[in-house]
Amino acid sequence: MNDYYADLGVARDASAEEIKRAYRRLARKLHPDVNQGADAEEQFKRVSRAYEVLGDADKRHSYDLGVDPFATGGGAGGFGGQGFSFSDVMDAFFGGGAAARGPRSRSHRGQDALVRMQIDLADAVFGCEEELTIETAVRCSTCHGDGCQPGTGLGTCVLCGGRGEVQTVQRSFLGQVMTSRPCQACHGYGSTITHPCFECSGEGRVRTRRPLTLKVPAGVDTGTRIQLAGEGEVGTGGGPAGDLYVEVRVEAHPTFTRRGDDLHCRVELPMTAAALGTTIELQTFDGARPLDVRPGTQPGDTQTLRGLGVTHLRGSGRGDLIVHADVQTPTRLTEAQQELLRELAVLRGEERPEGKMAPTDKGFLGKLRDAFKGA
Ligand SMILES: [Zn+2]
Ligand SMILES: [Zn+2]
Repeated sequence: MNDYYADLGVARDASAEEIKRAYRRLARKLHPDVNQGADAEEQFKRVSRAYEVLGDADKRHSYDLGVDPFATGGGAGGFGGQGFSFSDVMDAFFGGGAAARGPRSRSHRGQDALVRMQIDLADAVFGCEEELTIETAVRCSTCHGDGCQPGTGLGTCVLCGGRGEVQTVQRSFLGQVMTSRPCQACHGYGSTITHPCFECSGEGRVRTRRPLTLKVPAGVDTGTRIQLAGEGEVGTGGGPAGDLYVEVRVEAHPTFTRRGDDLHCRVELPMTAAALGTTIELQTFDGARPLDVRPGTQPGDTQTLRGLGVTHLRGSGRGDLIVHADVQTPTRLTEAQQELLRELAVLRGEERPEGKMAPTDKGFLGKLRDAFKGA
């Protein structure tokens, strides 16, 4: 087992601050960029490894309990083996993320695109196919995405020599240190487009409108997003395309209201039909369906037609169609009609109704509310 306390030259009860200070002192002395001594690099690795363990409260605790992350030969990330550079050390001190090395790639994944689409309720019930026109970036067909005029290629950046980064020397508490930053001449790519494609100006993609046939699954609702993988914007430099999202908006229907996957509608019934009962023909999305009106139907009474609602988006089957009775009291009665109704009232003993108070919440809205509560 390695003795990391000895490697850093600190006591076993050293504070985190003492460990950090010891490491700084040794790193400054031993770093290969500074110290050309024969075994300096080996010592530097050992010191770095010790600090990786003792500088981390969790790893130090495990180590104190007898677990050495490097003893099994596994370099547990961080300073594993070759290729130390000063910015690793700087990262250890300043908590910077390990910056990517070498030139950046010119090729980037394209952005996702979002389009909105309006469909009517019938299309939401059964699903449909829509022809859309999408405006997105597509790969440039002249340069096939690399941005160079046909017959030419990328040139090596003269400022950074193709590395994509330039190094500068700075003073710090460690003495002189080298830091790297992306080359400004080539934006870190390490290469330049010497003859930009005349079609796309070197971007590798062009904007265009293109038709797209979209299969809208049955059951979509306002706010549903349909994802089309790889149909979004093509990336720059011949990068892969992002995804296209189509957001659906279902238009309000003049007679049918959607609640979840159920449809609701209202049927106007003359008072006489509601009282005597009858059969009416109901125009549903599935065509005409007979609906039996029970004798004595009250305003707000509902009838459920199973399976005539919206198709479930996931899974199979459909919601129901719920018909609400809207009993119409006759108006503008003729003299003869009034006479008949008066006669009826006498027969039913209703000439002087007592005006009994009714319980609340049993009107049309109340019934609707009960239906949603499953009452
Ligand atoms: Zn091009
Ligand atoms: Zn450059």
